[in-house]
Amino acid sequence: MDIKTVGIVGAGQMGNGIAHVMSLAGYDVLLNDVSGDALDAAVATIDRNLERQVSRDKISADEKAAAMARIKTTPTLTDLGRTDLIIEAATERETVKQAIFEDLLPHLQPHTILTSNTSSISITRLASRTDRPEKFMGFHFMNPVPVMQLVELIRGIATDAETFDACRAVVDKLGKTAATAEDFPAFIVNRILMPMINEAVYTLYEGVGSVQSIDSSMKLGANHPMGPLELADFIGLDTCLAIMNVLHDGLADTKYRPCPLLTKYVEAGWLGRKSERGFYDYRGDVPVPTR
Ligand code: NAD
Repeated sequence: MDIKTVGIVGAGQMGNGIAHVMSLAGYDVLLNDVSGDALDAAVATIDRNLERQVSRDKISADEKAAAMARIKTTPTLTDLGRTDLIIEAATERETVKQAIFEDLLPHLQPHTILTSNTSSISITRLASRTDRPEKFMGFHFMNPVPVMQLVELIRGIATDAETFDACRAVVDKLGKTAATAEDFPAFIVNRILMPMINEAVYTLYEGVGSVQSIDSSMKLGANHPMGPLELADFIGLDTCLAIMNVLHDGLADTKYRPCPLLTKYVEAGWLGRKSERGFYDYRGDVPVPTR
């Protein structure tokens, strides 16, 4: 199956990154968000990030101009029905994602492949509520999308080989590397990463270490490029909490219970970098630990 056009739902930090790499690889991109401000911000971010690649001689000015020209935005979700591949990258809440697919269904072409960039929600369950579970799968990019090499491809129970191969071919065209994961809560990367981040929050909650000592311990002692709390702020604490809840509910094991301190930060609206405050306060020139 030849994919030429890609529809992306959600123009947040993941959606804009996905639009960036897809347009650079030659796909025509149609980007949608419920928020007009998010669409404007996404186009500005993509422009800035492509410009950075030009200044580092990674791409030419002509390649940047061609990529920008291939990106169109629309506030109307159903416009995406005319694309060959849809990647849903909206907020990590099942009801939100389910409503998006429901609204899209009557407007899709018969061959359109539906995918979700969800970090944790069951692909099989999302697929089962559509008219095409065999043409539905998980297409999970890592953050920041233009930088990170991996894409997890997740098969739902019904995903057919043609759909999987078509998505794998897209990953190849992006110059990225695919890892195949079966459809169980949080797949591979977040099944391993999120419990570590949650444990770092417990370590803070129990007073074993401060934000700074926990992050520098893991950077200098385990050779991680970022500390777990810094990484949690980067991912978004709401997303981290949502993934822990999916692991806890889906695997019914108390080892996945979200740390109450993580819940408290989310309830405060301290969601990390995107809201300028999380385990660090980003409102000044340098990030300052909040505990
Ligand atoms: P984000 O909060 O930056 O962006 C989400 C966007 O979705 C917002 O712009 C919001 O306005 C939009 N949105 C909400 N409801 C919508 C709807 N009904 N229709 C259209 N747009 C809608 O979130 P994000 O970090 O970009 O995460 C998006 C998805 O990607 C989530 O499923 C998340 O789990 C997944 N993901 C996140 C990361 C990460 O590190 N943040 C990594 C991999 C995957």
